[in-house]
Amino acid sequence: VSRILTPDICIIGAGSGGLSVAAAAAAFGVDVVLIERARMGGDCLNVGCVPSKALIAAAKRATMIREAPGFGIHAGDPSVDFPAVAAHIRSVIAAIAPNDSVQRFTRLGVTVIAGHARFTDPRTVEVADATIRARRFVIATGSRPAIPEIAGLDQVPFLTNETIFDIDTLPSRLAVVGGGAIGLELSQAYRRLGSEVTVLEAGKILAREDPDLAAPIRARLVADGLNIVEDARILRVEPRPQGAALILADCDRVEATHLLVAAGRSPNVEDLGLAIAGISTDRDGIVVDAGLRTANRGVYAIGDVASVYHRGARRGPARFTHWANYHAGLVLRSILFRLPVSENRDLLPRVTFTDPEIAQVGLTEAEARLRFGDRVRALIWPRSANDRAEAERETEGLVKVIVGPGGRILGAGMVGRNAGEELNLWSLALTRGLKIGAMATFISPYPTQTEIGKRAAVTSFASNLTSPLVRRILAALRLLG
Ligand SMILES: Cc1cc2nc3c(=O)[nH]c(=O)nc-3n(C[C@H](O)[C@H](O)[C@H](O)COP(=O)(O)OP(=O)(O)OC[C@H]3O[C@@H](n4cnc5c(N)ncnc54)[C@H](O)[C@@H]3O)c2cc1C
Repeated sequence: VSRILTPDICIIGAGSGGLSVAAAAAAFGVDVVLIERARMGGDCLNVGCVPSKALIAAAKRATMIREAPGFGIHAGDPSVDFPAVAAHIRSVIAAIAPNDSVQRFTRLGVTVIAGHARFTDPRTVEVADATIRARRFVIATGSRPAIPEIAGLDQVPFLTNETIFDIDTLPSRLAVVGGGAIGLELSQAYRRLGSEVTVLEAGKILAREDPDLAAPIRARLVADGLNIVEDARILRVEPRPQGAALILADCDRVEATHLLVAAGRSPNVEDLGLAIAGISTDRDGIVVDAGLRTANRGVYAIGDVASVYHRGARRGPARFTHWANYHAGLVLRSILFRLPVSENRDLLPRVTFTDPEIAQVGLTEAEARLRFGDRVRALIWPRSANDRAEAERETEGLVKVIVGPGGRILGAGMVGRNAGEELNLWSLALTRGLKIGAMATFISPYPTQTEIGKRAAVTSFASNLTSPLVRRILAALRLLG
């Protein structure tokens, strides 16, 4: 027998987006049902951000040992105990998991149901033994690895982000299909742990990034010994007794013991009863307006599965945990307080956690010039001119701030060892609409690497120092005694 539930909000998917909606709504005392068909925490916790950052942290330790002689410290070559690295990754997931657990959410007052949810009519969802008629539904079903159509791929074992964190042996030769953020982060980490790694990218790596910011990363990846093949055309994949061989169009071949497919993401829109519910989809996911509403006004979609349209134009995917969290905040304002909300892409921060990291918020220089022409200024400060970076021997990289008319900050990008941390300040500045002057006039403790951003901001006044007008004013003031 099916039980009938009539909560205020029903959320499908307990990943980054769904959990945020559930926790915040429960804090307001709202009746919430949360449905999850697999693991609580979704991709980010189990097969995404968390394990990848834990892997990168291990690789970073190996790199620090290799760099130590430059500081006068000798520890020999690092030796990698890969099963212990894998155990470290699992224990990081386990440490965070209680935050996302059924127990915690039940304690918060959320009704958590395990199972695959689907709409049976525009106002009803069914899962396991429950029929749910909620005032509002939020679909947060996320995405999965897209599997490209390559002849023979289905004949060989290959890894994706869903399986690579479970392996207990270090791949001796790893081939990675896809040179996006996920592909590059994992490739560099495995290389630094001792794998031979070839990245096969159909276009160019870091193609969306500002070329000035991308250049230091490319140089570092090559210096690390990563084999990067761009404009790669993979004709077919052939099985080998140990692994697989990728046959490329230019008669080249890549032999690998392990193959990782990291060639983009597909939204989880299947078998949800979307058509019955009057909800449409496109190649990026569930079609929503900038207020994250589907064509069915009682249903929202957020996070990786949402394909946002604004004035008829598709914005394209923005698949990040913090963006799913931001979406969650927007739909809550809309559902609970009935306030008008609108996704603002100009505020989207993104970080690729290679070493050095590349971080960007707002517009890149090229994007800003498209909108504002030559009224845009790019303020640049190199890391090599920062004392702390010098002391840490982390002088690779730079900060580039994009300023528009009236000193408006349009965007900021940075590349450097911990650039993602430094991006926070600029994300705040953009969100609060601060002018460039504000970023030049706060007191930054010396010596910190975040000071590089302030130094870039200060350069916006450089022309003032030499301006004849300022010089005349100073001369006049001197006359006053
Ligand atoms: C390797 C990797 C590294 C990443 N690193 C970062 C990073 O460093 N920083 C960052 O911001 N982002 C990162 N991401 C992206 C991030 O993981 C996603 O953007 C985020 O998880 C999206 O959250 P979500 O709530 O939309 O979906 P998810 O977290 O995927 O959650 C969706 C949930 O819905 C469930 N579900 C699906 N269909 C149904 C159904 N019909 N019924 C019930 N349940 C269902 C799924 O089982 C899943 O648990 C990374 C991703 C990958 C793959």
